[in-house]
Amino acid sequence: MTNTHRMNVSAATGGCRAWCWAAALAAAVAWGPEGAEPGAGAASAREPAAAGASAQPGRATTPGGTGGVNAPETLDKPYLVLVSFDGFRHDYLDRYATPSFDRVAARGVAAEALVPVYPPLTFPAHYSIVTGLHPERHGLVGNRFYDPARGGEYNYRDPASVADGTWYGGEPIWVTAETQGMVAAAMLLVGTEADIGGVRPTFWTRYADRGTHRERVDGVLDWLALPPERRPHLVTLYFASVDGAGHRTGPASPAVAEAVERVDADLGRLLDGIDALPHRAAVSVVLVSDHGMAEARPDAVIDLDAVADLRGVRAVVSLSGANLFVPGGEARARVVRDDVNDGTGGGNVLKGVRAYLRSEVPAALHYRAHPRIGDVVVIPDPGVTFDVGPPPPPGMHGWDPRHPDMHGIFLASGPDIRPGQRIGSVDSVDLYPFLARLLRLAPNPDVDGGLAALAPVLAPAAR
Ligand SMILES: [Zn+2]
Repeated sequence: MTNTHRMNVSAATGGCRAWCWAAALAAAVAWGPEGAEPGAGAASAREPAAAGASAQPGRATTPGGTGGVNAPETLDKPYLVLVSFDGFRHDYLDRYATPSFDRVAARGVAAEALVPVYPPLTFPAHYSIVTGLHPERHGLVGNRFYDPARGGEYNYRDPASVADGTWYGGEPIWVTAETQGMVAAAMLLVGTEADIGGVRPTFWTRYADRGTHRERVDGVLDWLALPPERRPHLVTLYFASVDGAGHRTGPASPAVAEAVERVDADLGRLLDGIDALPHRAAVSVVLVSDHGMAEARPDAVIDLDAVADLRGVRAVVSLSGANLFVPGGEARARVVRDDVNDGTGGGNVLKGVRAYLRSEVPAALHYRAHPRIGDVVVIPDPGVTFDVGPPPPPGMHGWDPRHPDMHGIFLASGPDIRPGQRIGSVDSVDLYPFLARLLRLAPNPDVDGGLAALAPVLAPAAR
């Protein structure tokens, strides 16, 4: 697809000895989704919770979901398998042999890139894909975040946070499906372990029980072979291995090439299985990633405490961003902001980092409205990280999503999609309305994305 702007950091890493790489690798296990994210697993069927649903005017909804049986009017609707490959940067499709991805592109559409939301981290970015909302509206404003109203913190590594639907705003596509009489199934995806508005997918999987890639693919194929009354029309599938390799050894490393080729084989197994179904012509396949990957610069690690007086400040700091909750009102927040930007707090002159009052965050990032966003938001340039203890891993993401290294992938094929199309970049918030259209569902109308950008890829009858 397009050439990627890449930072040259080879000089910076040249002095790193074996111990240094071992430390970075150990750290990456904790930061990357692979091995670090909580809950989901082998194909264990769980019943949906029976709490109240989020009914909306003009949309026929079923409180609590389908109860595992498709409504009669659902039986004639298409099927959709949404597959996410965490951290799959857009240009990997050009760099490596990906015959299975190419198969989907030939049958349907491939975008130049999928532009993620800010911050391009696994939890916020995935949840924007499935809700059509920016994080400032769906509320997952980071992989970890603080909620001043609750006085509590969400942590993507804490299974209790992940499973608690009260953290999740908006309406993910599987809730749209279940409340409109359509059975949904999740072989992992952010949010599918929670009861959101009282609704879960009929089938879902704990991350801790996630099984091997082959087991996940076979579990999806088992679901698609169920009798029509119980067969899910929406199925999600998730792989974290490309992200893990990118963190551990960097986006240009041989390990990423191996991970890409392996998930391509997994995808091939899925496509072969779908092609063997009697109802194969009714199945759409949508391939996405949540974000890309960039090199983290070991020579550009910033200690926020050294440059601003953070006494009394609740700082939620990740490698690639920080939300600061500043007591004392806006006057003190301005002081913290200016300390970071001017580098006066600790006598440092900062390069490659910028602090904003919440109201000043660039409009293009859509990162202002939610109270879980800090009074001061600090955003480093791509490659620059915050000092959170261990050295940064070779690969990271979470920086400004307008940077090409943060861009992911979007490909789709199915009965409503014209074959052989190549399109430009797609915004990830535009996927939810598109998924709803493919499934003949009435989407939540109150979303940030729209169908206009992707309508041209549909066959005229499906627009
Ligand atoms: Zn990651």
